[in-house]
Amino acid sequence: MTEILRGNLVHTPEFGKLETIPHGYIVLEDGVVEGIFPVLPERYAACPAVDYKDCLIMQSFADLHLHAPQYPMLGMGMDLPLLDWLDTYTFQTEARFSDLDYARQVYRQLAEDLISSGTTRVAMFSSRHADATLILMEELERAGAAGYVGKVNMDRNSGAAQEAAGTSIPETLRWLEGCRFAHVKPILTPRFTPSCSDGLLEELGKLALERGLPVQSHLSESPGEISWVKELCPDCGQYWETYRKHGLWKKGTLMAHCVYSDEKEQEAMREAGVWAVHCAASNVNLCSGTAPVREMLERGVRVALGSDIAGGDQLAMNRVITASIRASKVRQMETGDPFLSVPEAYYLGTAAGHGYFDGSSGFQEGKKLHAVVVDDSTFPPAARELRLEERFERAVYLMEKQHIRAVYSEGRLAPFCRLR
Ligand SMILES: [Zn+2]
Repeated sequence: MTEILRGNLVHTPEFGKLETIPHGYIVLEDGVVEGIFPVLPERYAACPAVDYKDCLIMQSFADLHLHAPQYPMLGMGMDLPLLDWLDTYTFQTEARFSDLDYARQVYRQLAEDLISSGTTRVAMFSSRHADATLILMEELERAGAAGYVGKVNMDRNSGAAQEAAGTSIPETLRWLEGCRFAHVKPILTPRFTPSCSDGLLEELGKLALERGLPVQSHLSESPGEISWVKELCPDCGQYWETYRKHGLWKKGTLMAHCVYSDEKEQEAMREAGVWAVHCAASNVNLCSGTAPVREMLERGVRVALGSDIAGGDQLAMNRVITASIRASKVRQMETGDPFLSVPEAYYLGTAAGHGYFDGSSGFQEGKKLHAVVVDDSTFPPAARELRLEERFERAVYLMEKQHIRAVYSEGRLAPFCRLR
């Protein structure tokens, strides 16, 4: 079916490039972008059109690192450093997800919160629980989101959230059996090296290879964590080698944080095709530091953004984008690295993340549309007529849920929009 969307089109097809088309048209064929036009070609004149009038139609967001079971502790424990924060809040909260009614209630709300904030793709950590993870995937699918979800593997140093000896792999296999969703797929998720025994990492590496499954984990977030990894794995020169050793360091592996990844670790990422997921709000909240984002990009490392709730305090990705701009400005003051411009950071929070899944920017011909429609008419009144570039910048900084008129995920209007 051919469908036409009309509105002010704003998107970042490449890093650092912003394209604006006032009152333009997106033509969709079964949700796939057929073309983007300033003037509607005659051949589409008779096709049904949705006119978003003066609204902005922008790429939707992709959140490539967040912890679903930490949603109930959003905005809590922000005065603690990483390892204390994990012990005091996180592991206890995550342990609650053995209760499936609780899981259903929390994950339904999270999925709706995500999609109505304009996030259409995710790479997400669940808890250790196979059944609760399937509920999370089901709720994301229902809400219209897409991406990857991982049952977390953790068999040491994890308090109440830890798995009983010998259960981690059998439970992972049971979870994989149940993964039959159209748009939400499994990703192997060793929490991080300190939480996983060598034997467990090795088994997961084998599973990744045998089934061609992607992998996500954490890397070089804080100095305390890095020295702990050194103690636990004295045979590995650097943190990343603890993943490589077991076959988990491969093309498409997502590594959250990389705040302290030096030249050698960054080179290892570039060479292997491992992605860095930058979580600026979380890194500042936990006083971890400011990640070398500009340096990684210049070196050719792929970078996307993550909200990292609940180390991050904002689920809405436009807030995560502005947090990454702010963190990059702090870094510029510290090191001289040029800060991220609004179009650059927006690209990382949208197109880069979409690209991880299908090489698309969200707005790309031949790929499913991922878009958010923003009504900025109730923003504070401007002193003059604004250019589209200026309206885009305001939308990135000021957009709240109430300004989001519609969300397209995988080329489909998200279900919550139809209920309005
Ligand atoms: Zn994390």
